[in-house]
Amino acid sequence: MDINVDVKDSKINGCDAAGRANLRIDIQALSAEDIRRNVKNAGVVGAGGAGFPTHVKLSAQAEIVVVNGAECEPLLKTDQQLAAKYAEEVVQGLQLELKATGAKMGIIALKEKYSAAIAALRPYLTETVQLKILPDIYPAGDEVFTIWFTTGRRVPPGGIPLDIGVVVNNLQTLLNIARANKGFPVTTRTFTVTGAVNRPLTVTVPIGTSLQEVLALAGGGRGDDLAYILGGPMMGNLVADFTTPVTKTTGGLIALPQDHPLIQRKQMPLESVLKIARTVCEQCSFCTELCPRHMIGHELAPHRLIRAVNYKAMGDLATLSTALICSECGVCEVYACPVGISPMRVNRALKSELRSQGVKYQGELGREDPMAQYRLIPSSRLMDRLNLRMWYKEAPLAAEPYEPVEVTLKLQQHIGAPALPVVQVGETVHLGQVVGEIPEGALGARVHASLAGVVLKVTPQSITIGKGGAAT
Ligand code: SF4
Ligand code: SF4
Repeated sequence: MDINVDVKDSKINGCDAAGRANLRIDIQALSAEDIRRNVKNAGVVGAGGAGFPTHVKLSAQAEIVVVNGAECEPLLKTDQQLAAKYAEEVVQGLQLELKATGAKMGIIALKEKYSAAIAALRPYLTETVQLKILPDIYPAGDEVFTIWFTTGRRVPPGGIPLDIGVVVNNLQTLLNIARANKGFPVTTRTFTVTGAVNRPLTVTVPIGTSLQEVLALAGGGRGDDLAYILGGPMMGNLVADFTTPVTKTTGGLIALPQDHPLIQRKQMPLESVLKIARTVCEQCSFCTELCPRHMIGHELAPHRLIRAVNYKAMGDLATLSTALICSECGVCEVYACPVGISPMRVNRALKSELRSQGVKYQGELGREDPMAQYRLIPSSRLMDRLNLRMWYKEAPLAAEPYEPVEVTLKLQQHIGAPALPVVQVGETVHLGQVVGEIPEGALGARVHASLAGVVLKVTPQSITIGKGGAAT
């Protein structure tokens, strides 16, 4: 049963979020192939950050599906609120994924403090759809760590979850899988806007809305001397261009004072990072002891990488290539190192150099650290270390999706080839219409109009649509 999401009378027209949530899916009537096709047609990609096309993930055969709702980045409050509000749809998405992958067990991973989400999900639990409560630590939401906590299985270094029979999807991806099978393509994104803003909240906006408008929804920044992080405080990047459009993977928008240590650290040039590493690293190895990947038996040892970079003679390729398995979680940088070095930034630079030379990591899974449970970092302690406590606020889910007058849809919001524009300037498009198609035979994801209107601009990178044809 194929649901064509690119039709003019698509259910997307005239159906609000509550109406959509109440629509039933006859999962029995759908084959695994139907589910994959609907997900592909709807342009679903991994919402957790990487943007891997979900229909490809659903083509794999797995034993366990893990739904990652841990959301361990401090300040972000998206997944817990979505789970509380759309619990039934989350479970529908999981059941569809179980059917598509042939997996026999689905596990939804949440933290204990997400009590509203847990209460909302409980009525839908079955023998094959279970809830796993993770400790409130960072980085519980890193997929390798989430799998370890939920299943006890360890992803090999440089490997993928499927190597150990597991498929992981972010909670918002599950909602999009359910919605794809009800006839709704991915046209909106939900994320938290918080920090030094006047009205912290969790918004749902059409993909392609500018960050400027998103910030206005949160009442604007509190003060003039602010810097902004796109994503979470640990793994997000600074953003200065507020015409930047929201994509399918936008994870959060956080305002902080320019002189906040987190901002200062993110602004530090690589040369300074390397200089500090050269002059003050005392090889205490705290960075390695607290490295989450090291804990579960990956060969990564950041103190050795710092030594290898500082003393080139000690940097053989086998050691240097371990940088490729760094998740860039930032624990070594913001929590472990007592003298302010950033092994994470050094690893990132090494990664880019090694990748440009085509170097691949080759190594084995080692022994799990028997002290791992004593080395886990409580989220509250991390928040204090990051000096973020004063910015930890409620960020309630906004009741209605925002309607902009113009959207700019990036044609690459995913891993793989950019989508190809299939509309022209001046063309009228309806909400949910395909405007970017997957190139023949390529890995990619479709892009859909997130606004009904007229196409104002088409480039190989993006498509701009104005509501009712009005340029702003
Ligand atoms: S924690 Fe800092 S000082 Fe210690 S080994 Fe790592 S980078 Fe060097
Ligand atoms: S960022 Fe640091 S702590 Fe995190 S995985 Fe990489 S080396 Fe380990």
